[in-house]
Amino acid sequence: MVVAVVSSLALRKFLEVSTVSVKDMPRYRCENCGNKTRFDVVATEKSKSFYHYNLAGELTIENSEVEVFEVESVTCRWCGSTKTVVDESESVSN
Ligand SMILES: [Zn+2]
Repeated sequence: MVVAVVSSLALRKFLEVSTVSVKDMPRYRCENCGNKTRFDVVATEKSKSFYHYNLAGELTIENSEVEVFEVESVTCRWCGSTKTVVDESESVSN
């Protein structure tokens, strides 16, 4: 089991996650302080990657695919609250 702390969408893009599009990611908002831009997200991730070593033993990780991505907690960076962060994208799509 791999527990990753993902603090931004930019980091997820850097990891070349191909199965989770920006559209599918939650849009968080803190109901306590109104923060919509800064969150600490603790998630459990199961992924499959192509490990490509050259003959010198240097590793390049390619084609990472996230198979399971479960958010465990979301903490507001402004007020530190974990109880008041809501996912706005759920209410929009439903
Ligand atoms: Zn807050």
